[in-house]
Amino acid sequence: NNKNQTILVTGCAGFIGSNFVPYFLEKYSNYNLVNLDLLTYAGDLNNLVECENNPRYKFIKGDICNRELLEFIFSEYDIKGVIHFAAESHVDNSIKNPGVFIQTNVNGTYNLVDVAYKYWMEKPFLYKEEYINCRFHHISTDEVYGTLGETGLFTEKTPYAPNSPYSASKASSDMIIRSYVETFGMNCVITNCSNNYGPKQHNEKLIPTIIRNALNENPIPIYGDGKNIRDWLYVLDHCKGIDLVYHNGNKGETYNIGGRNERTNLQIVNTICEILDKEFPSKNKSSYKELITFVEDRAGHDRRYAIDATKLESELGWKADENFDTGIVKTIEWYLSKYGVCK
Ligand code: NAD
Repeated sequence: NNKNQTILVTGCAGFIGSNFVPYFLEKYSNYNLVNLDLLTYAGDLNNLVECENNPRYKFIKGDICNRELLEFIFSEYDIKGVIHFAAESHVDNSIKNPGVFIQTNVNGTYNLVDVAYKYWMEKPFLYKEEYINCRFHHISTDEVYGTLGETGLFTEKTPYAPNSPYSASKASSDMIIRSYVETFGMNCVITNCSNNYGPKQHNEKLIPTIIRNALNENPIPIYGDGKNIRDWLYVLDHCKGIDLVYHNGNKGETYNIGGRNERTNLQIVNTICEILDKEFPSKNKSSYKELITFVEDRAGHDRRYAIDATKLESELGWKADENFDTGIVKTIEWYLSKYGVCK
């Protein structure tokens, strides 16, 4: 595969990256992927067994904060593109322990973009042509925009107003990427996506917690009054958006990705309980909804997020393939098989 371009993908033992890698390898035969992941508690190589033996895929365990390692990877594999997923991603953990979020999301992103810049752009003149347009794609979140009231949508022009240490660290990383475009002319793009759901998400997140606790007949914890609204997107639709922006997005631009699927947390839990009640009825309860337990709200809990994805739709022709009703059924089926539950 010597003629193939090699892309460095970071954090792909996690939820979104491990959905992205098989999708991308299958769709394109002209790329090799090198996956750099520290395998923190959030990374799991079982998410990528289907790629293990693919000659166009290589896994490296390591930290994006390790500069020497990054320099080695860029030159050893002649990296010609980066898609940067690696991050600390769980808001609750960022409230308990913000330091590691600053380290990985801010310092790690700086390291990665700076090593890429030096490898691609500080080359002798003759080599420059080949590298100058190498793409750096930074994966970010809609949480950088803060919270919405009952109406309105986040667009790419919405001012940043992050409220949690997680969103502040992601906002900072977005700004660092922006500066490498403005100052050094790097070919970076940023995507800010809404909440993802689908296979391979870590147990700690809302939807896997609802499914697992229901099946184990444990209380299903819901923050506050359950009326916080998120805009849910099926993970493969996010991956397809990333693919489009990586290939066709304009240098220095930001694209919002969102499913136009606003749901309160209470609606999410009710939908999942109703599906499980039909598919796999509880032996002790008339409905899994009886397990719903309201718990003290998360500090600084943003009330509503909703994305306006018009730019991505109209400029690059993106459209979500799943709506929430179809996506959630696929997701539940995946977790039922992970937990070894059969009818
Ligand atoms: P995740 O927590 O499931 O996975 C993160 C991965 O990064 C893990 O495999 C972990 O081992 C790895 N990692 C952590 N620190 C690292 C380090 N220092 N060096 C190398 N690897 C490291 O996260 P996810 O949900 O897959 O999110 C991926 C990206 O997408 C993140 O940047 C996140 O901010 C962004 N995002 C997520 C969502 C969502 O709903 N999950 C929505 C929008 C944006």
